[in-house]
Order: sequence, then structure tokens, then C-alpha cells
Amino acid sequence: MTDLHIHTYFSHDGREKTENYVKKAIETGKKRIGFSEHYDYDCYVNGDDTPLSDIDAYRAEIERLRKKYEGQIEILFGIEFGYDKRAVEHYRELIERYKFDYVINSVHLVGKHDCYYDEYCKDLSKREAYGLYLKKVLESVSADYPYQIIGHIGYAARYSHYEDKKMPYCEFADLFDEILKEIIRRDVFLELNTSTKSETEFLPDKDVAERYIDLGGKKFTYGSDAHDLKRFYEKEDKVKEFLRKKGMSNYFFRNGIAEKDEL
Ligand SMILES: [Zn+2]
Ligand SMILES: [Zn+2]
Repeated sequence: MTDLHIHTYFSHDGREKTENYVKKAIETGKKRIGFSEHYDYDCYVNGDDTPLSDIDAYRAEIERLRKKYEGQIEILFGIEFGYDKRAVEHYRELIERYKFDYVINSVHLVGKHDCYYDEYCKDLSKREAYGLYLKKVLESVSADYPYQIIGHIGYAARYSHYEDKKMPYCEFADLFDEILKEIIRRDVFLELNTSTKSETEFLPDKDVAERYIDLGGKKFTYGSDAHDLKRFYEKEDKVKEFLRKKGMSNYFFRNGIAEKDEL
């Protein structure tokens, strides 16, 4: 499977050189690799000083590596946008200018807080905190720019302080149904993201992915969300096992056009 969710030094929180992933992917027999650096204009419009990735430098490095490793591996040029309705216009321009192979549309901020940090949940019940997060995810699915993938649904559960931090389908069935139906209607892809700090194998919870299939969804992508080599391709086997069992395929993108991976 192609890992489409990888961060390098070009992302503010990345800890690895792009080339190190490429070398590792070749060593381990991968056919292709997809990078998805952060571009958090959502932070910028909320007055946060999180640095924006230098997309020109990132693209130049991808081009250099494509030449250097030609014939050995395919390298995909993706991006991860942090959704905010005030960032829509800017994202549309970037997509037009850079012609990414694919765009991952993710929600990180709810209000001014990155809901990854426990700070976000501290004065809220689980129902309130996760409900607000899922409402923003629902809004993000309808974002008015062309993207391919909805990233890591359930992100707010990664580090929350609740005793049971999971975000299962049954606790938020109405919101999940609205989100999943909108993903299907818009014909975009649901990411299975293996960056989880709990016992869950991937985000979103398996029962959410199963509900997506029950509603007619068939389009999945895989992402480790690695920020260094340690987590590169983590739990790929778990995602593969799930997709195989359900008779589903995994996809990657060239110039925004989806193709199936061989499972
Ligand atoms: Zn993300
Ligand atoms: Zn990411």
C-alpha cells in the first residue's frame, strides 16, 4: 500500500529528511511514497504563529529526489491543509498554483485551540469537545476547493484526558452519519490514519469505517502520519487486514487522479 501521509523537515513538526524516507522505502521494496507536508493557514488566520511550510523548497526537493531515484520509486507531491473557512480562498489558489498530486483536508483547530492538545478539552465534557470537533469536520467535508482525502477523523481523541478517550460511532451516530454521507456524496476518500496513542489501530474508529462501508463508501487511503522514520508505515498490516476482510481497496493519486494499490 502507498503511505500518503508523511511529514519531513519541511513541516514545522517534522523530524526527518525527505530523502531518508525515500531511501527507506526503496530498501523495503515500496513502489511509491507520498509526502503530505503541513500547510496550516488555519493557524495563521487564527493569529497563531505556527510556521507555514515553504512549498517552493518542498517542491524543489521532491523534483531533485524524483530525478535522483528515477526508475527506483515513484514520489508523490501531496499537502495537508488545516481546514478553516477563512483559509478556503488561499487554499484554492495554492492548489491552482502547485498542482499537488493530492490534498489531505484535515481539521486540527477547533476555535483557537489545536484539539490535539489536552488544553482543548480541559473545560469541556467529552460530548461537547468531540461534538464541536465533529461539527467542524462536517463543515470541512464541504470545503470549496478540490481536495481528495479527509484526514484522520477522530484527531481530537488522540491525546484527550477522558478516561475513555475513544470516539466511537455509537456515541456520535448522527454527526458521523452526516459526515460519512457527505464524504460519499462529494466522492472523496476516507483516510485510515495509524497515528493513534491508544489501543485503537487507526483513526477513525473501526466502527466508523464499517458504517462508511454500510452507507456505500468504498474509497480508502492509508496514512501513517509519520513525522520521523520510526513511525513510517506503522500498522500498515492492520489497515491491510481490515480492507481485505471488507473486500475494499486502497488508493493513491497522481495529479489528483485516483488509482488502486495492489493489496
Ligand atoms: Zn493532521
Ligand atoms: Zn499529518
